Amino acid sequence: MEPIYLDYAASTPVDPRVLAVMLPYFHESFGNPSSVHRYGQQAEAAVETARETIAATLNCRPEEIIFTSCGSESDNLALRGVAMAMREKTGANWILTSRAEHPAVSKTAIQLEKQHGFQVEWLPVDKFGIVRPETLEKAICNNTAIVSVMYSNNEIGAINPIRELAAVCRAHNVPFHTDAVQAAAYLPVNVQALSVDLMSLGAHKYYGPKGIGALYIRKGTPIASILTGGGQEFGMRAGTSNVPLIVGFAEALRLAAEERAARTASLQPLRDHLIGAVLESIPYVRLTGPIENRMPNHASFVFKDVDGNLLLNLLDAAGFACSSGSACKTGNPEPSDVINALGLSRDWALGSLRITLGSDTTPAHIDAFLQVLPGLVQKSRSLTRG
Ligand SMILES: *Cc1c(COP(=O)(O)O)cnc(C)c1O
Repeated sequence: MEPIYLDYAASTPVDPRVLAVMLPYFHESFGNPSSVHRYGQQAEAAVETARETIAATLNCRPEEIIFTSCGSESDNLALRGVAMAMREKTGANWILTSRAEHPAVSKTAIQLEKQHGFQVEWLPVDKFGIVRPETLEKAICNNTAIVSVMYSNNEIGAINPIRELAAVCRAHNVPFHTDAVQAAAYLPVNVQALSVDLMSLGAHKYYGPKGIGALYIRKGTPIASILTGGGQEFGMRAGTSNVPLIVGFAEALRLAAEERAARTASLQPLRDHLIGAVLESIPYVRLTGPIENRMPNHASFVFKDVDGNLLLNLLDAAGFACSSGSACKTGNPEPSDVINALGLSRDWALGSLRITLGSDTTPAHIDAFLQVLPGLVQKSRSLTRG
């Protein structure tokens, strides 16, 4: 039997329509967009068309989009670049971010604190993993260099109230960054409606290729480059533009926006069925993240007295590809920071499981999964207890 993929929050297959528009830029139109001749002009035109497509989806200007190598780099550029530039400009040296961020944000904040003299304040989340605007309102001050709160959480599916959080930042004149790498697959990414100053994206979470990301930077936001060299990307990010991947990024984002309602309508009922059945059929289980304000393809749980890694391996052996907290394969038995931020006791926090649906998921896949899960949870419980 073919394994069943239920880990679309970790990565997605490239949409054949996306691959088709990328292919000519590997071989026929291979020029360097910085070159003067017509090979260069052709490549440059492809990059600028992609930038315009993305700008139309985000409702911003093309020159406010910077291409990067991945979602992680976009997060790094936002935090590092704005923290450095804000301190230079105003002396502000505090970074406010939440306890439930992706490591691309949290590890960057920790390095800025340890090695560059910034101070980090970690905003607590509620029991659903959401940052409350009141929490930010209490913490923000005129020494804050940047606030970074993710749009939706990859591990627990929680959607943060980005407009409200951005409004708090705007009232205090502090740049606001959101990591939308996970959110862009299903949520609107209109940067004017959201009122964000910086937004990170990564194509492989919405049926685009790996190795390409972008950062939206609102005009006038203080930011320093973190990758110096040639003048590409308006001097913000050196390195020869990865033309095929940029073209693929734009097409994948365009399709995600165009098909957003249809994709949600097809997956959300399946997801709801999955959540309902798991909560009903298995003892000592809790949903992690909220039931409302949740990514439409996302289900995540903790099982009491279960070793999450063991459960993942049992599922894999049974032909189901899922994930625990995050995609890390370190064999680290500790709960992730996100799971820890929810305030669960250890006997619950160690047993996390994430199931994320996508383009190839069928009702039959979900039924097959629901057939095996209760037995495998029970098996990992008895093995864990020894
Ligand atoms: C996947 C992910 C990232 C990292 O993106 P890469 O392109 O894999 O570097 C960052 N933040 C969130 C929320 C993600 O889901």
